[in-house]
Amino acid sequence: TVLVVGSANLDFVIRVAHVPAPGETVLGRDARAFPGGKGANQAVASARAGGASTRMLLALGDDANAAPIEASLQAAGVQPQVVRMPGEPTGMAFICVADDGENAITVAAGANGLLRADALPALDDIDALLLQLEIPLDTVLDGARAARGAGCRVILNAAPARALPDELLALVDVLVVNEGELVALGGHAGDLRRSLDAITVPCVVVTLGARGCVARVDGELLLQPAFAVDTVDTTAAGDTFCGVLAAALAQNLPWPLALRRASAAAALACTRLGAQASIPAAAEVEAFLGR
Ligand code: ADP
Repeated sequence: TVLVVGSANLDFVIRVAHVPAPGETVLGRDARAFPGGKGANQAVASARAGGASTRMLLALGDDANAAPIEASLQAAGVQPQVVRMPGEPTGMAFICVADDGENAITVAAGANGLLRADALPALDDIDALLLQLEIPLDTVLDGARAARGAGCRVILNAAPARALPDELLALVDVLVVNEGELVALGGHAGDLRRSLDAITVPCVVVTLGARGCVARVDGELLLQPAFAVDTVDTTAAGDTFCGVLAAALAQNLPWPLALRRASAAAALACTRLGAQASIPAAAEVEAFLGR
């Protein structure tokens, strides 16, 4: 079982000719609401990957935006444990996507900013705890401590990018970062090997967008190229990668296979618009890998 403790947002996506400059008003073509948030996206990816069951602890407001988020988690087969925050809005993201693919994103954490680890369930049947940084850092730290105490694997996707206390990194078994997040933690911008060497977590995976990923697993370097696809929208590629990787590691699949599945699922997520809506099911990933 994978337990995700993390964020859930309703993403309002508006398609525009160009991202507005300060003070400018731009008429968008269409606006749609999609369930998103790094935590919920990764939970959906883990559940769709199959092989392990997926639970999620999340905080929602008592407003109408909560319902589509819960519906999306349930449809994907995630077992959600919702902490309802009276008087708080559900997390929201406002995303402008321009025709050239450029975007501008603002996020209001809302209820996510109030999630506390005292709501954490018993961890006896949990194999892997999957965390990101869109909830309070104290909650992440408390969750990691509890998981370490219960003997379950701690997987941290250190996104969005920020520096982290050594105390947290010392509790992490598997760290997943993109290049910007790697530099925020390991320094040495432009020198991946040195940034990686500066991080003492036992297993570190660095995702490199269309260039694939590099992992250092207990001292051994593994490379997994990206799968070539026609890219429509890379939103949630990183989240899909993390969720599928967590599900694979919770099943004790070997690392090379886990990285291959995570990369294939992430590539498929790039071929479709939206966050959770774009995350493929296990059968699709199998078919893609066997093509
Ligand atoms: P993030 O979105 O968190 O910055 P990345 O951009 O590094 O993360 O993407 C995560 C993973 O998704 C990559 O390691 C790769 O496997 C896959 N991926 C991302 N972009 C592409 C792409 N254009 N084509 C194929 N796979 C991609």
